Amino acid sequence: MPMPERARALFVSDLHLQASHPVTAATFLRFLSERAAAAQQLYLLGDLFEYWAGDDDIADPFHHQIISALRALSDAGVAVFWIAGNRDFLVGQGFADAAGLTLLQEPHVIDVAGQRIALVHGDAECTDDSAYMAFRAQVREPAWQQQFLAMPLAQRKNIIAGLREGSREAHTMKSDAIMDVTPSAIAALHAATGTDTLIHGHTHRPALHIDGTRRRFVLPDWELDAPPERGGWIAVDNTGSIRRYDVQGNALD
Ligand code: MN
Repeated sequence: MPMPERARALFVSDLHLQASHPVTAATFLRFLSERAAAAQQLYLLGDLFEYWAGDDDIADPFHHQIISALRALSDAGVAVFWIAGNRDFLVGQGFADAAGLTLLQEPHVIDVAGQRIALVHGDAECTDDSAYMAFRAQVREPAWQQQFLAMPLAQRKNIIAGLREGSREAHTMKSDAIMDVTPSAIAALHAATGTDTLIHGHTHRPALHIDGTRRRFVLPDWELDAPPERGGWIAVDNTGSIRRYDVQGNALD
């Protein structure tokens, strides 16, 4: 990677970190030590992990490695923030304390280098996917989560593995359009937050969409263990300029 530039804030999502994808994990750890360490703030915008079965899984050696790296960043003075994704929404305060980060509720609006930016993961804006929206509403219920987290860890992991298998099958049966955010949900988000600028992930369709004064930056997913290799982040610099970068650190916009 080229020499890091100072960034006020960095944004990443959809790392889908898992022990079976070691190159992706190593690349993310290098991003933390080389890029994020030089920034003031790091925002993790969902699906950092491929799945999260509960904070009692912190001791898992792979999880411990990621948590330690986040903790080192936070201990070095970088403010680290978390928005849950559709795969790691069971992350709780135990994880946050271990990693030294702050849990945020979406949508979250930040003011950085003169820019007001709304942040979400992006799954809640895929409103055409009614089956997913119903599932999302259920699993975000505190009562559902309490009941689920009361099960033994091994049982939770089995249930999640089953859900992921079902989700893979469901995705192949759905049109591409239904898996993207809907324009009405995006318009509602701009209106509700009073912002012109939005950063999100989830869709794995990295882009900068410009619509009049409105800008929507979409983060890429990361995959360095299988082709096509991809990844990247978004940075806000001290002048307030917002740019997308590929996983090698090349500016895209
Ligand atoms: Mn997602």
